[in-house]
Amino acid sequence: MTIYNFSAGPAVLPKAVLEIAQSEMLDYKNSGMSVMELSHRSSLFEEIIQAAESLLRELMAIPDNYKVLFLQGGASLQFSMVPLNLAQGKKALYVSTGSWSKKAISAAKALDNVEVEVIASSEDKNFTYIPELPETVDQNAAYVHITTNNTIEGTAFAKIPNFGKVPVVADMSSNILANDYKVEDFGVIYAGAQKNIGPAGLTVVIIREDLLNQEAVFAPMLDYALQAKNDSLYNTPPTYAIYIAKLVFEWVKAQGGVAGITEKDQQKAQLLYDTIEKSKLFTSPVRKDSRSITNIPFVTGDDALDKAFNQAALAEGFENLKGHRSVGGMRASLYNAFPTEGVEALVAFMAKFEKENGG
Ligand code: PLP
Repeated sequence: MTIYNFSAGPAVLPKAVLEIAQSEMLDYKNSGMSVMELSHRSSLFEEIIQAAESLLRELMAIPDNYKVLFLQGGASLQFSMVPLNLAQGKKALYVSTGSWSKKAISAAKALDNVEVEVIASSEDKNFTYIPELPETVDQNAAYVHITTNNTIEGTAFAKIPNFGKVPVVADMSSNILANDYKVEDFGVIYAGAQKNIGPAGLTVVIIREDLLNQEAVFAPMLDYALQAKNDSLYNTPPTYAIYIAKLVFEWVKAQGGVAGITEKDQQKAQLLYDTIEKSKLFTSPVRKDSRSITNIPFVTGDDALDKAFNQAALAEGFENLKGHRSVGGMRASLYNAFPTEGVEALVAFMAKFEKENGG
């Protein structure tokens, strides 16, 4: 049976990448060592981390005045690192668009000397849309934080707002390398790797140099400036995850870069949205103008039927389709490496299920 993995993360990786990793697992470039066994100060690993950075710079057209950091702690640690580094003694503005934004807001609020203001929210309707943002904000604020793609709720920002000299900071964990966003529109971008980049354990941070803190942060590991000064090698980085990320970046490049990937991602999403639109059984809880092409929730409106669908889907090899426990229903996460055949198989299965269940 073919397995299609719809997981929201850790998620499906390109098969071609896993095959290369497998072939190099025991002996990387005739070194007699696995990448996992290489010193992070060795020339072989230096080549890997430098290639990973230059490929990411090329794929996202990252300007020279931005640093790329390979860190740990997941996107969740960035919820604290961002305000710690950028907003001490200042006001930080947040857009509340889902469970992950709420966690980012709580982490910032936990800091004594950061003032947090939520400037827009879609919580009134269970985060099923991207809210209207104010045209201007307090120009003394440290930043405006947004979550470009809301993994759990299935919404995404189609357009990145501009607030003059106040930089936009983005949690891009679930749609980095899947949208043609311009890095210049952001002061900071961060993403946990385990969706479109590679294995869990690596966090990518892209930060404009003028935002690197001037004063040391109390904990060295949480200090962007220190991490940047040490080229992400202040301590032992997640070496194997960085190696896989490098292979994924090579794969993205071979797919026509972010533009090629985005086109394919849009087609995959369209196929599923078209099916949902035509269906008499399934509906999307998300407002049309706010829909993500990456995480696509759908429901029947009947919990028992959702459960029956999820059970039947699992038996057919559709893994991890169950919606997040806070939302229910179903959710298909169609990350970059998710194959088109998987979406075709899913929509065929949905049609069959609908027919059998009185649709
Ligand atoms: N932000 C978003 C948008 C996410 O989807 C996730 C995880 O799924 C996180 C943050 C948390 O990431 P991590 O588990 O790497 O801390």
